[in-house]
Amino acid sequence: MTERRALVIGGSLGGLVVAQLLRSTGWDAAVFERNEEELNSRGVGLGTHPQLIAILRRAGVAFDETMGITPPRGVCLDRRGKIIIEQPMARMLSSWSRLYRALLAALPRQDYRLGKKLTRIAQHTDRVTAIFADGTSERGDLLVGADGIRSTVRAQFLPDLQPAYAGYVAWRAVLDEADVPPELWREMVELYAFCLPEGEQSISYAVPGRDNDIAVGRRAYNIVWYRPTDLDALTDICTDANGRYHAGGIPPPLIRRDVIERVKADASAVLAPQIADIFARTAPFFQPIYDLISPRLVFGRVALAGDAAFVARPHAGAGTTKAALDAACLADSIRDAGDDLGSGLAHYERMQLPFGQALVELNRQEGAYLSAQLKRKADRSAAELHRNTGAVLHAHIARSEQVGDLVAAHGLSALAGT
Ligand SMILES: Cc1cc2nc3c(=O)[nH]c(=O)nc-3n(C[C@H](O)[C@H](O)[C@H](O)COP(=O)(O)OP(=O)(O)OC[C@H]3O[C@@H](n4cnc5c(N)ncnc54)[C@H](O)[C@@H]3O)c2cc1C
Repeated sequence: MTERRALVIGGSLGGLVVAQLLRSTGWDAAVFERNEEELNSRGVGLGTHPQLIAILRRAGVAFDETMGITPPRGVCLDRRGKIIIEQPMARMLSSWSRLYRALLAALPRQDYRLGKKLTRIAQHTDRVTAIFADGTSERGDLLVGADGIRSTVRAQFLPDLQPAYAGYVAWRAVLDEADVPPELWREMVELYAFCLPEGEQSISYAVPGRDNDIAVGRRAYNIVWYRPTDLDALTDICTDANGRYHAGGIPPPLIRRDVIERVKADASAVLAPQIADIFARTAPFFQPIYDLISPRLVFGRVALAGDAAFVARPHAGAGTTKAALDAACLADSIRDAGDDLGSGLAHYERMQLPFGQALVELNRQEGAYLSAQLKRKADRSAAELHRNTGAVLHAHIARSEQVGDLVAAHGLSALAGT
């Protein structure tokens, strides 16, 4: 069989894994990323799952204990900072940029093309053409849309499908270990810490630091804080100091100073003091939370993968695991179909559609009470109003295992060799 060429649109984690795994099955695969420079995640943390680790190894990443930090205890802190519930846990927390750097290093430089913003796709029976904003175009046998939640690829084939806002945002903050008071660091470093203010949720933990380092003194502390935010409030916080509204998400440096001051004041009013203290020392930013379910993943020679295909709320920390499973399923389905690309793509869609839907649903369950905060009290369920902190913590930790159960139930375990 002659070498076939894949055009992968989107150079984040999803696109990089797709390109690597297609290459491992004999394809020539190049990644096209719209940003002019290599990507930067502001050091945010990223929860892993065994399936992600296994697939990254398949993709050429030497995944070992240096990839992250594994806190031994999951705890819930009350408003005064006292541990009220505790449970052992063993989940490695890595960081977005640690995985990005490792995947990028595994791909030949000339096949990672920056400043390539896809505008349109043209399809012919024997090829597909990607047309870029800079006036250039590229031809391939297959095009994979790994271009995220606002996918240009998806918009061309499913123009009416939009992400559904879940009614809350995730405030995110990272602080270098060196900037955390030493006593506070010692207290927090071994904890996967939950805090559950009324109607809200924060999770925080240590992650690899700025240079992806896990050496003592060079790590960082990561906070994710989910806050119900109605559409008017979302519009307000997405409007910069010049009055410009950023519908697709406001770049962190443009978040208004009064918005930052208010959220820091709220942190000290509702979060455990340890978390609020760290949060106060950061430059926080936020991401609105969405659900997205694509009804189809394949359009001729074009396939969707990662967040372009499905966006699950981040509670199970499995978005990247899902993107990696998509990549492995796509590469294996095409390899197993030999010359029949169409049947390989059809197999990919048959496997990943139900799994993606199930993962979105699993995460909706955890986020349901956050979404419910925007409803009138009378419209919320009794269970939601009388939540048990212990049950929330246990369910959150168990959800990690449920991701593995979902993978098995959908016949995907072999992709990760698990
Ligand atoms: C608050 C929060 C916490 C999260 N925590 C976790 C976690 O703990 N664990 C986990 O596994 N996942 C987590 N996720 C999810 C995870 O970030 C994503 O699901 C995962 O990284 C897959 O991303 P992707 O590569 O498909 O898309 P993205 O990372 O969105 O990448 C899309 C890429 O495509 C590029 N692009 C877009 N349009 C074009 C175009 N027209 N032409 C060329 N390039 C284009 C973009 O610039 C971008 O680089 C979290 C998400 C959020 C919001």
